[in-house]
Amino acid sequence: MHHDGDRRRAIPRTDDLLALDVVDQARQRLAETEIRAVLRAVQERARTGQLPPEQVRAAVAEELLAHPVVSLAPVLNATGVIVHTNLGRAPLSAAAREAVQVAAGYVDVEMDLGTGKRSSRATGTAEALLRACPQAEDALVVNNGAAALLLAITALCAGPGSSREAVVSRGELVEIGAGFRLPDLMVSTGARLREVGTTNRTHLEDYRRALGPDTGCLVKVHPSNFRVEGFTSDVGIPALRTLADAHGLPLVVDLGSGLLAPDPSLPQEPDIATALRAGADVVIASGDKLLGGPQAGILLGRVELIQRLRTHPLARALRADKLALAALEATLRGPEAPVPAFLHADPEHLHARTAALADAVGGTVVEHHGRVGGGGAPGHPLPGWAVELPESVATALRQGSPAVLARAHSGRCLIDLRCIPEHDDAALTTAVRAALTVTTIGS
Ligand SMILES: *Cc1c(COP(=O)(O)O)cnc(C)c1O
Repeated sequence: MHHDGDRRRAIPRTDDLLALDVVDQARQRLAETEIRAVLRAVQERARTGQLPPEQVRAAVAEELLAHPVVSLAPVLNATGVIVHTNLGRAPLSAAAREAVQVAAGYVDVEMDLGTGKRSSRATGTAEALLRACPQAEDALVVNNGAAALLLAITALCAGPGSSREAVVSRGELVEIGAGFRLPDLMVSTGARLREVGTTNRTHLEDYRRALGPDTGCLVKVHPSNFRVEGFTSDVGIPALRTLADAHGLPLVVDLGSGLLAPDPSLPQEPDIATALRAGADVVIASGDKLLGGPQAGILLGRVELIQRLRTHPLARALRADKLALAALEATLRGPEAPVPAFLHADPEHLHARTAALADAVGGTVVEHHGRVGGGGAPGHPLPGWAVELPESVATALRQGSPAVLARAHSGRCLIDLRCIPEHDDAALTTAVRAALTVTTIGS
C-alpha cells in the first residue's frame, strides 16, 4: 500500500506533462483533447503498475508521435476483388485525389467567378457526365446510389397526400448488402411497391396487368450481386418503354454498377448508355463501383425528369459534397482510373509481376481468378494469378504496416496483384517478407 502511494506520487502530473516540448510539438498535429487523452492513458498505465513512473515522459513522447489523426489505415488490396466494399470500394485516380485537394479549400462550387453571382451547384460534374455519356440529356449527382433511388421513387410515387405505386418485378427485389434491401428503401418513401411476376420469371403481361391510375412509375433493378439461372425470363427495357409510353409513365432503371458504356471484358454487365438508348427515362448508378470514382449516386436521363428531381425538396438532403463532386468530375475527365485499369490488367504483365514476387519471397505462382466484387458482374471470373503461401501469413500481412489484405482460402494465403498499383510492388514485397518472418518466429 505504502509502496503504491510512493509510486503514484512519482508519476508526473498532467500540468508538468502538458508543458513538455514534445507536447508542444504534438499540438501542430493533434487537438488538445487528443493530447490529454494520450497523457491520461500513459498516467493510468503508471498508476496500475504497468509502467515505471520514471518512464512516463518517454512513453508520452512515443505515444504522441504514433497517435494517428485519422483511424483509417491504408491497405494494399491483394484479394483480386476490385470493388471491395470493406476496403472503401473504388480507389481514386491520381487526378481525382488532386481534385479532392483543391476542393478541400474554398472553391467556386456555387459561384460564377465571371459575374460574381451565385451559380447552380456541380455544373462541371454534370457536364463531365454528359460528355462521358452523350445519350443522356441531363445529369444529377447525389450522395450515393441508394439516395438516387430514394429521390426518384419519392418524386415519382410519394407526392404529399397521394402515394402511388412503383411497379417492380419480384426477380429484382434485391438485398444490396448486409441486410440493406432496395424494396425496404422504396417503401420507406411512402410509395407503395407493386410486385409483379415471380422470382425466376416475369412477363410483360405481368407489368401490364399491374398498371392503373395508381401507378407512379415502372422500376427495373439490375440484380447486380447475384444471377438466376435456368428457367428464367425478364422483360427488357425496350418492351417496358413501349408499355410505359402507352400509359404515359416514367421508366426508372437502377443499374448499380455504373458502367458508362458496354465493356467487352464484362459481356453480361449492363451499361448506362445502352439503357438510355433502349428507353430508360432515368438511369441510376453508383459513383464508386465500376465507374471507379468517389461515393456518389448518379442520375442520368431526360431533362424534364432530372430537373424535377433536382428541384425536389429531398434533393437538398441527399446532395453530394464538394469533395465527391470534384473527385467524380476528375475521374471522368482524367486518365483511366484504377478500377477500369485493374479490370483490364494485361494477364502477361500480371504474371510477370506475380512471378517476381514469388521469386523474392519464396512462394509459388498459382492460377487465381480476380472478381469485380460488390460492384457487379457476379460470378464473372477475371483470369489471373496469385502467389501462394501458408494460410497463417494472411493474419501477419493484415496486421503489418502497410496492411496487406490477401485471400485466405482452403488453407492457403493467396496474394493477387491485380489491385495492387505497380508502384507499390516493392512495398508489397517488403510487407510479405516481414509477415513471413513474424509467422516463422511465431510458429
Ligand atoms: C450498389 C447498388 C445500389 C446502391 O448503391 P450505393 O451507391 O451503394 O448506395 C443500388 N442499386 C443497385 C442495383 C446496386 O447494385
